[in-house]
Amino acid sequence: MTAVQSSAEDRGGELAPEPRHSTARGRPSLLAVYVPAVAGLHLILTLAGLVRTEFRLNDLLIFAALVACGAVCIEASRRLGMPPGVARDLLSAWWLPAALLLPPLYALLIPIPLQLLLQFRVRRTLLYRRVVVTSALGLAGAATSAVFHLVVPEPLAGTPAWVVDGYPGIPVAVGCAALFTVINMVLVAVAAHAADPDARWRAVLWNRESLLLDVVELCVGMLVAITCALSPALLLLALPPVVLLQRSLMHQQLQAAARTDAKTGLLNAAAWQREADTELSRSQRTHDPLAVLLIDIDHFKKVNDTYGHLVGDQVLVGVASTLCGQLRDYDVVGRFGGEEFVVLLPGADTVEACRVAERLRGRVRRLAVPTEEGSVGVTISVGVSLFRMHGEDLIELLAAADLALYRAKQSGRDRVCLPAIEKTG
Ligand code: GH3
Ligand code: MG
Ligand code: MG
Repeated sequence: MTAVQSSAEDRGGELAPEPRHSTARGRPSLLAVYVPAVAGLHLILTLAGLVRTEFRLNDLLIFAALVACGAVCIEASRRLGMPPGVARDLLSAWWLPAALLLPPLYALLIPIPLQLLLQFRVRRTLLYRRVVVTSALGLAGAATSAVFHLVVPEPLAGTPAWVVDGYPGIPVAVGCAALFTVINMVLVAVAAHAADPDARWRAVLWNRESLLLDVVELCVGMLVAITCALSPALLLLALPPVVLLQRSLMHQQLQAAARTDAKTGLLNAAAWQREADTELSRSQRTHDPLAVLLIDIDHFKKVNDTYGHLVGDQVLVGVASTLCGQLRDYDVVGRFGGEEFVVLLPGADTVEACRVAERLRGRVRRLAVPTEEGSVGVTISVGVSLFRMHGEDLIELLAAADLALYRAKQSGRDRVCLPAIEKTG
């Protein structure tokens, strides 16, 4: 899978949380045209390939071996699960050799059994998403294969000369592998954008960590292709390290997903408490001040009731990114539940904490989330509590911030309050 698939996944689904209202309300949607177009092209090219390709036993054996290796990888990682937020696999290790070593037909075919396996053995996702991902991989692979074989013609039998000589075959293969990633990324990004038109292209396309993983996948795919070109039997040696690499990659993603709130990308409540505890211990040692802000969106139920839950979710995401954009890297921001957020400000005294809280309130007030019925705005109420002044541990600080939030709500909302009673002794 590519950067775009995983970055979209980070935001709640393989392509996007759900297709937006335009489809639900019957308006023609780009997605309704795009998905059949991509799938149709994939199908037509596959049928044409089946008619025109000359089948050779060696090609069929390599294809079967690559499918079997992909299936082993999927089965080996199945028990780890693939919850939302975990989207990276190392299956390019098997798509890429198919594109470089076999006629384009095989690159069109190979994603089909492996994506079916993912759908039925690992994670059932909406059918249109699986179809787009399969077709994008097939089309990207076929284009890569066609370009590569055009530039580097091969003898019909024996080890390909580009593997033995290295030049110019290897640089061309690397270029084609990059082409594969780009075509696949663009095809999926258009679908992701059609499903969620409010997503910014930059967020969908550009994610440095994911692009780094794309490069790793590409390198592994190249190494497997070269190994397989020398002898398909050598795939037996390539398989165990690829499985191990995939498992460690997924383990990393599972750890990150377990810390993150899937909807907003902020820390979830448990992870926030762990990080906040660490900061609190530091403040106890260094005698630095520290503040906690409890933030609740005002009349959020009305947003849901008026515009629907999907718009409500967009507002939550908008508020979360506004909060993040206004805070320092070392402030700890989390989603505490529903429409409630929590921020820990290391080093902040009363004046600084109230200044930050007022800034957040002002920024959220100016936030306008675009919807079909015009833009939606919300306000927030903020409860502030200070370490030592209102509590000595996280539980006391959160209770004091909750009391302050209650005061803010009682006195009219859209304001910042401190708790009425300061802790003494
Ligand atoms: P108040 O100003 O007193 O905070 O009023 P409120 O309407 O914001 O408060 P209340 O707690 O009554 O309602 C919170 C609503 O948040 C109810 C629930 O449906 C909604 N909510 C909780 N989690 C989510 C979510 O993930 N997405 C959406 N769209 N709504 C959510
Ligand atoms: Mg509320
Ligand atoms: Mg609430």
